[in-house]
Amino acid sequence: MSGRLESVLSNPDLEVREQEPLHRHTTMGVGGPARYWVEIRSERALKIILQTLQETTLPRYVLGGGSDTLFTDEGFQGVVLHPSGARDLNIHHNEMVVGAGWVLSRVIQHAARTGLSGMEELYGIPGTLGGAVAKNAGAFGREIAELVSWIEVYRWDGSFHRISGDEAGFVYRDSQVRREGVIWRVALQLRPGNPDAIRQQMNNIYARRTRSQPYGFRSSGCIFRNPPGDSAGRILDQMGLKGYRVGGVWVSRRHANFLVHRGEARARDVLELIREIRQRVQRERGISLHPEVVLVGPRGEEPW
Ligand SMILES: Cc1cc2nc3c(=O)[nH]c(=O)nc-3n(C[C@H](O)[C@H](O)[C@H](O)COP(=O)(O)OP(=O)(O)OC[C@H]3O[C@@H](n4cnc5c(N)ncnc54)[C@H](O)[C@@H]3O)c2cc1C
Repeated sequence: MSGRLESVLSNPDLEVREQEPLHRHTTMGVGGPARYWVEIRSERALKIILQTLQETTLPRYVLGGGSDTLFTDEGFQGVVLHPSGARDLNIHHNEMVVGAGWVLSRVIQHAARTGLSGMEELYGIPGTLGGAVAKNAGAFGREIAELVSWIEVYRWDGSFHRISGDEAGFVYRDSQVRREGVIWRVALQLRPGNPDAIRQQMNNIYARRTRSQPYGFRSSGCIFRNPPGDSAGRILDQMGLKGYRVGGVWVSRRHANFLVHRGEARARDVLELIREIRQRVQRERGISLHPEVVLVGPRGEEPW
């Protein structure tokens, strides 16, 4: 970042760090450094940084809670944008308009307090609202796409767009809007409900999560997408892969679709384990498993 770098560095709503270790910013806890890490604390600051990026060819990537992103040990030779300042929250009738930097579960807690229902099944999914929309997060039969009325997004060329949920290109655990730029604000269409009943449902969902998923380990959640009509976790479990290990990372004994570690793993261990599992499932079951987590190499997102 040359030219405008001065104005960026002197802006109190932008914090630029060089060689920021990315393992600190993902739930998997692996990955080398980002050449630049940019903390964006206001919408105005986002516009400035996007303008600045027009002058460079540096790769760019948006990171929310880092619960669905895997960086390699080489790190990222570009700019990671972290839109932590997208934090407004307004309610009009049954519509909640929320900054993408909010932690998803906090949005759901807030909805519950105000007697707005519809998102309870998503309670406990880690990460931000922006990440949930970008990845069309879902659980227990509910996907966030069903609730999105519109999204405000700043595209990489700096242009601002308000698009409808229908225009976001939502598919199973992904969207088109994820590739377009930075989601700043999202409107969610909810329905009135009794706060106690909503809270009860959230507690039930949370309890079901904690019973079935490994807690207290580093992970990226479910590592593989479910193949059509089946469950990746069930397949791996049936194949006896629970506990299977490469270096410091292994297949969780509680949920076979989770790869976990205690902080000693490298990204290459995770990648090697994923590669071995895919090969075995292909060879022994004839099924192609596709990872759900976004893989980011030194120059950007990489295909699996
Ligand atoms: C223990 C555990 C349990 C999980 N359970 C579930 C589950 O039940 N269901 C489910 O769907 N997922 C689950 N996940 C995966 C993950 O939590 C979700 O996909 C989550 O919504 C990702 O949010 P994030 O902010 O962490 O995304 P990140 O990892 O930060 O980003 C994910 C993708 O979204 C993009 N992105 C993030 N923010 C923005 C933004 N503001 N604008 C544009 N693009 C953006 C990133 O560029 C990246 O491509 C789980 C993960 C863990 C660790």
